[in-house]
Amino acid sequence: MALRSRENYESGYDGAVRLVLCYHKVGSESVEGRWINVAPDTLRKHISFFLRRGYGVLPASEIGGTGVDRAIAVTFDDGFVSMLENGLPVLEELKVPATIYAVSECVGGGANWEGNSGEPLADWSALRNAQQMGMEIGNHTATHMSFLNLDQAGQVDEISRCHKRLVDEGLEPKTFCLPYGHYTSFSSKAIAEAGYETGFTVEKRWVSDRDDRRLLPRFAMSYGDAVPGLLYKLFIRPRIQGQH
Ligand SMILES: [Zn+2]
Repeated sequence: MALRSRENYESGYDGAVRLVLCYHKVGSESVEGRWINVAPDTLRKHISFFLRRGYGVLPASEIGGTGVDRAIAVTFDDGFVSMLENGLPVLEELKVPATIYAVSECVGGGANWEGNSGEPLADWSALRNAQQMGMEIGNHTATHMSFLNLDQAGQVDEISRCHKRLVDEGLEPKTFCLPYGHYTSFSSKAIAEAGYETGFTVEKRWVSDRDDRRLLPRFAMSYGDAVPGLLYKLFIRPRIQGQH
């Protein structure tokens, strides 16, 4: 099979030339490890790749809008201290916005949910500072429970509790993202009932006009993903898997 040009890869997606990148921690391997972490220089290279090719970088609240074309959104889950300390300077240098998803009852504490080991999470004043710098602070639930383990009322409650706390702390959440990317057949409605138009999973797809705007896909990036890894995940793997 002859490889097609990158332009052709993109134009194969029903004209939906937009995608969302999903990161967590930002730091060196020696301090932050490799799991859910990227080096600051990798983050810079990923975003620069799109800027050089004429993509716009939008806040997550705008990426699902109609008529949005040739754009990316950059998202960071959980609000790790390492992201604010090492990631924000990169975003500032490149002059692009991003969206940081906070877990309201863990802000200023540690990531104590499944898979993490208490890595420090930014406090309210750090999140407010990030918002002042032009970042969006989004809703990532009150406690980071998987929605697979919550009934309908529980899902709405997790989103609503987080929303109220973020607003009380002077933040302006406009979008929601699902812990672990997990959702049930009710979750889109739960997101709507809690007052959000836009939500995110971690399904590895480009955004399409056909998507439920409350369950938009994102590509999760990890430490080993230099630019070749980025290209593979975005342009080649979806083709191999026959996704359109
Ligand atoms: Zn998370």
